[in-house]
Amino acid sequence: MDRRLFLGSAAATLALPGCATTGVRTAARTGCLPPVLVSPERVIRTVAGLRPYRAPGFVVRAEALGDKRLVHNYGHGGSGITLSWGSSKLATTLGLQGHRGPAAVIGAGVMGLTTARLAQEAGFQVTIYTKALTPDTTSNIAGGQFHPVGHYDRSQVTPEWQAQFLAALDYSWRRFQIMVGDDYGIRWLPTYVERNGGPERPLLPTFPPDNRALGPGDHPFPVANMTRYTTLYVETGRFLRELTRDVQIAGGAIRVRDFRTPGDIAALPERLVFNCTGLGARDLFGDTELHPIRGQLAILIPQPEVRYAFQGAAGYMFPRADGILLGGTWEQDVWDATPQGEDIARILASHKELFAGFRCTA
Ligand SMILES: Cc1cc2nc3c(=O)[nH]c(=O)nc-3n(C[C@H](O)[C@H](O)[C@H](O)COP(=O)(O)OP(=O)(O)OC[C@H]3O[C@@H](n4cnc5c(N)ncnc54)[C@H](O)[C@@H]3O)c2cc1C
Repeated sequence: MDRRLFLGSAAATLALPGCATTGVRTAARTGCLPPVLVSPERVIRTVAGLRPYRAPGFVVRAEALGDKRLVHNYGHGGSGITLSWGSSKLATTLGLQGHRGPAAVIGAGVMGLTTARLAQEAGFQVTIYTKALTPDTTSNIAGGQFHPVGHYDRSQVTPEWQAQFLAALDYSWRRFQIMVGDDYGIRWLPTYVERNGGPERPLLPTFPPDNRALGPGDHPFPVANMTRYTTLYVETGRFLRELTRDVQIAGGAIRVRDFRTPGDIAALPERLVFNCTGLGARDLFGDTELHPIRGQLAILIPQPEVRYAFQGAAGYMFPRADGILLGGTWEQDVWDATPQGEDIARILASHKELFAGFRCTA
């Protein structure tokens, strides 16, 4: 199931009978959850961002640029947070091999920051050059669920790319696990997924864990088919802020700069350059396979008692310390990164209906 809201399809969710009788209530009690309180008055902010989507998959590749080695690391669609550590691991392994001297990273989203950290951990001096910093990046808008969805078209990728993707996923999965805690804003949550056909297809031997179909007594949602798995959720603002500090504490420099052409990059003093410009790579390197896919979120007042996530026909709900995120939309080739009132109203309405239909509450 993608993190997409099929707007308008909320009405298709099946209302199940409420737990009015003692028998049903007893059976359902183990599966009761605190509902999210959805109303326009509880909205604290709305945001929209452009996912850097590439149907043939993300790009990790090295090429020569004059006397430099240029390593690309961009195009992760709706999964850039998920794949960040792993994709940047592939990129740094490729770039740092045999390299001596400082390295440059273009971009300070999640790819630029994780690439910079991995290069520093390998002992290299790093300068990040970037047009925008946290919080003014797409990465800062991301919901932060660890699950690789919405980043490629299965019919357009090669077996070699698939192997690269799974290697990135594996490294990321292990790296995020050792960062769990309040300092980076990363935590485990059970995720309820409305889907037919049973549990998620496992992508790694250990991902996703706790992955199973649920019976009606195991959950309160008013939907016909429900599964559940457990995964990590990243409070992206806090995570990116901490990564930026980590880069600086390790002696990294950050310079604000907008690159217009590869020639601008060729003039940098560093002989190794990582291109982590996300959607910016489309103009900078003429990659017309890159397309924006807009996503919009309504964020509600935090509810610390809500310790589960949801995905389904109504959209998705990720609870974070900085607010309850309700998403989202999947709008192809839309370049305007501003929230639209009508879409936000639909996101709120579908979630209001979902949580109002809870069969029992904890
Ligand atoms: C609504 C929404 C929800 C999402 N939810 C999730 C989720 O739950 N899980 C998940 O894994 N992913 C999610 N994503 C996807 C994720 O946000 C992206 O894949 C990720 O942020 C891409 O990171 P990046 O570093 O490549 O790009 P960016 O964050 O866009 O960073 C690019 C950097 O490059 C710089 N740059 C660009 N062009 C130039 C230039 N010419 N010169 C200098 N600097 C330049 C920018 O200023 C910026 O610093 C979501 C996205 C959206 C929009």
